[in-house]
Amino acid sequence: MLDGKCIFCRIIKGEIPSSKVYEDDKMYVFKDIEPKAKVHLLAVPKTHFKLLEEMGETEADILKYMLLKIPSIAKANGCENGYRLLINQGDDAGQTVYHLHIHILGGEKLSDF
Ligand code: AMP
Ligand code: ZN
Repeated sequence: MLDGKCIFCRIIKGEIPSSKVYEDDKMYVFKDIEPKAKVHLLAVPKTHFKLLEEMGETEADILKYMLLKIPSIAKANGCENGYRLLINQGDDAGQTVYHLHIHILGGEKLSDF
């Protein structure tokens, strides 16, 4: 289920343009508009969840699906040498878009954190 007011739902629907790198029936992957690394992709499920805590066992199947798909998507987009996955959760983490998403960062040696 998509949310008409959510920016990522609108990107998935094609109402807001994005630089798509991968799409299937369950997930959508596009370039972050303000990249924090040479490669910075966002992988989003095609179902609107704000936070991990909204998911139950069944809903969380999408996370397993995405994690299994991400390695080939990352490698095909310039992260042959490794990458970092990041999921911000809530205000203290600096989450700005409340549609669950996985950041894929790479294309260069990333700083320690
Ligand atoms: P977060 O801070 O974890 O919620 O991440 C949200 C990310 O979405 C940020 O890195 C933004 O740069 C990115 N973002 C926001 N709007 C767009 C957009 N229209 N197209 C691509 N990326 C976006
Ligand atoms: Zn959404």
